[in-house]
Amino acid sequence: MNNIEGKVVIITGASSGIGEATAKKLGSLGAKIVLAARRKERLEVLKKQIEQNGGTAVYKVTDVADKKQVAELVEYAISKFGRIDVLVNNAGIMPASFLVKNCTDEWDRIIDINIKGILYNIGAVLPHMREQNSGHIINISSNAAYTEISPYSTVYCMTKHAVKNISSGLRQEEAIAGSKIRVTDIGPGMVDTELVSTIIEPEMKAVADQLFSDKSKMITPEQIADAVIYSIEQPEHTMVTSVVIQPNL
Ligand code: NDP
Repeated sequence: MNNIEGKVVIITGASSGIGEATAKKLGSLGAKIVLAARRKERLEVLKKQIEQNGGTAVYKVTDVADKKQVAELVEYAISKFGRIDVLVNNAGIMPASFLVKNCTDEWDRIIDINIKGILYNIGAVLPHMREQNSGHIINISSNAAYTEISPYSTVYCMTKHAVKNISSGLRQEEAIAGSKIRVTDIGPGMVDTELVSTIIEPEMKAVADQLFSDKSKMITPEQIADAVIYSIEQPEHTMVTSVVIQPNL
């Protein structure tokens, strides 16, 4: 028994990158996966791949910035599997621009997805986990949350600091409540995924393309999936509070 087999795991942002790699690995270890993201075609293909590999997966098209859709995602997971053991709160975007550019729409979007999306998912799963007296919430922040704000992406870094702080507050709340719910914050750095494609502003896009150009120096999504797996498979009386993984540049 690997403390993963049979667990019901919701993964947001499952249609690519870290979420997709995590879904595949957890599926192969016997978890029941609930895939969530906006791109239906990607989720459909991933579900089939997990099933072909002997795993169990369902999907629900979900925009995490929409609290109604998030509530529906959680209800869907309960209706399919009767419980929720793990939430991998992973969906995120990384638009970047200098503050002086006043990209207000971009700020709204990144805050809605990277902060509110994380909160909506926590708020929706917590009552179920409290009732079960067990559960595990894994928030994907960033190594940017564990360092000084980068002047090249102030708003993105701010959202990731917020995620780390949400993890900390939640962990303390659950400890006070004695709920046994585990909270893990994972802070990856420079992972080879589609994340850079969410940068639109030309000046910043050029900087990011340069930074993310040497794939040999980047971490793979599978390595971050391994950190998720390590956090889940620990015995229930053990909580991995945070994992920071970055390239050894
Ligand atoms: P990807 O761009 O490959 O994956 C992002 C995922 O988030 C996609 O599945 C996307 O799916 C989903 N997503 C975006 N917006 C929404 C939304 N509104 N509702 C639901 N899903 C959404 O990048 P990564 O795998 O790298 O990113 C995963 C997480 O890791 C993010 O939170 C990111 O900030 C974090 N991270 C990544 C790092 C890196 O270097 N790659 C470094 C540090 C942290 P869809 O478009 O189908 O909705």
